[in-house]
This record gives sequence, C-alpha cells and structure tokens, in this order.
Amino acid sequence: MEACPQYGPEKAFVGPASLAAVRLMNNHPTGSYHKQQRLHAIMADGGISDCGNAQNCVRVCPKEIPLTTAIGELGRQSTLQLLRDLFGKSQ
Ligand code: SF4
Repeated sequence: MEACPQYGPEKAFVGPASLAAVRLMNNHPTGSYHKQQRLHAIMADGGISDCGNAQNCVRVCPKEIPLTTAIGELGRQSTLQLLRDLFGKSQ
C-alpha cells in the first residue's frame, strides 16, 4: 500500500488491494449478486478514478497479482454501470 502514491492517511483512495478484491468478488458467481453496489462504491470519491496509473502496485506486489489489470477491468465495468444508470437498465 505504501508504494501507491495515491494511497495514504490524508487521501480518500481505497487503494489497489481493495480494488482487486472488488474485481474478485464481482467475477465470483455468488459475489456477483452485489456487483452493482460495489461498482457504485468504487465510482464514488476515493474510488477507481483516484488511481493515477503509476503502476507501482504491480512492481512491488510479492504475489504478482495483476493489480492494474484488475483496475482496468473495473474501469470497464464502471463505465458499463454508468451507462446502465443513465439509460435505466438495472443489471
Ligand atoms: S496504478 Fe499506481 S495509483 Fe493506481 S493503484 Fe497502482 S500504485 Fe496506486
């Protein structure tokens, strides 16, 4: 977490680990039930738009979790959710 320039006690950003957890749960068959609520949470202040894409998280991750891939996928999911919200489709 300290490697991320966007994450810290003075900042609202939830951080790459939380975003990766959102992606994991959104793609899980049972976790997908609350996908919409998770996407709305990360579309708010401190969410995905606060990622500066410096990619430090990927470089320092000891488990080699593809964090920026997760963030990119969540960006696409968030965009689709925004379109659903705008045009009234609930899922
Ligand atoms: S890409 Fe950069 S700003 Fe985004 S979560 Fe990773 S370290 Fe933080």
